[in-house]
Amino acid sequence: MSDFVPTPEQQRIIDEAHRRREEALRNPSGRPATQRDSGFALGLTADGHLQPGGGRPIAPPDPRTPLVPSQQIRADRAAGALIGAACGDALGVPYEFQPRLGDDQLPVMRGGGLGPYAPGEYSDDTQMQVIIAQVAATGLALDEDNAQRAIAEGFIGWVASGASDIGAQTRRVLYTARMERGDALTAIRAASRELHQQTGLSAGNGSLMRTGVVGLGFLNGTDAVYRCRDAARAISSLTHYDALAGDACVLWSEGVRKAVLASGPSLWRFGGVRDAVHLLPAERQAQWRAWLDEAQEKPPHAFQPNGFVVPALQAAWSAIYHTRIPDRPEDHFRLALEAAVRAGDDTDTVAAIAGVLLGAAWGRAAIPAEWQRTVHGWPGLNADGLASLATRIIG
Ligand SMILES: [Mg+2]
Repeated sequence: MSDFVPTPEQQRIIDEAHRRREEALRNPSGRPATQRDSGFALGLTADGHLQPGGGRPIAPPDPRTPLVPSQQIRADRAAGALIGAACGDALGVPYEFQPRLGDDQLPVMRGGGLGPYAPGEYSDDTQMQVIIAQVAATGLALDEDNAQRAIAEGFIGWVASGASDIGAQTRRVLYTARMERGDALTAIRAASRELHQQTGLSAGNGSLMRTGVVGLGFLNGTDAVYRCRDAARAISSLTHYDALAGDACVLWSEGVRKAVLASGPSLWRFGGVRDAVHLLPAERQAQWRAWLDEAQEKPPHAFQPNGFVVPALQAAWSAIYHTRIPDRPEDHFRLALEAAVRAGDDTDTVAAIAGVLLGAAWGRAAIPAEWQRTVHGWPGLNADGLASLATRIIG
């Protein structure tokens, strides 16, 4: 579908969105500079109860709960991560860069948007995540060069056939790398660094949108947390050289990893994002805690435009955090994903980011059956195809 030609109206919206994105990337200093380091965990009250978004309190883990969830539960959550990302993407596609939905408006997977999308079809966000997933499913370790080389080859091949739309920054890196003969990993790293040096604008949300799957590759081993951190940053930098994009990918990949591995009450599964701040370089930890605090204080739509990686992460985190846990706790998946779309602006990307973490936390079983029947995309995958990919990654 790379021969898709937007209508003049679609092109105008795309151009305007790119202009706003570049503006936001040029002026990230517009972000809050509070240095508050509260150590506040997701909805954790002083007496150890969890109360996200003002929902009902949930007790801390029962000490009799097994420390590690069964392989069956982990497989359900891993499948939930990939299907969750795809569902968020497909749910956000129709509303990308449109006036944002109100709180009483329900997003629907009706396709269209700024690409030639069928109802339920996911876009570049999930397409790129699938490329990483395919490499992880072969058994290669994502923190090693041979895996990153396979991902680079996958990205470059995807540009030639398969990409339905591509973010501006990723497009420039991949087109430059594609012109080089020889080693794809060397070429993509050089192109990514060069773009950053030329423009200083390489902290778009395009690496965060595809990163959650990295967490699925590191569920075992005492050094898994550090290998996941290194892989997330390295895979981010293939297209997004800026350290902030890498930071965001470290936080989110570790969040997904912890969500799959968590035992005990479901809400503890979201704790990994904040916990991962300590994995970042010391000089940026307080800033990231302040950004997460801000996301817990403001509604998702406060974080737009969200083409810059920081408000994209904040919008997704705000949607997850502020959505109350309903009587059927697993309905939190659907409600929080809808809230992510209502953040507005880059809706498919914000919802794909939220979806991978929500799916990892709640599992495939929590994803509405209707969405699972409808969701699909390049290279010919449906929910079952995404689930089998996830199963192969976790072994
Ligand atoms: Mg997209």
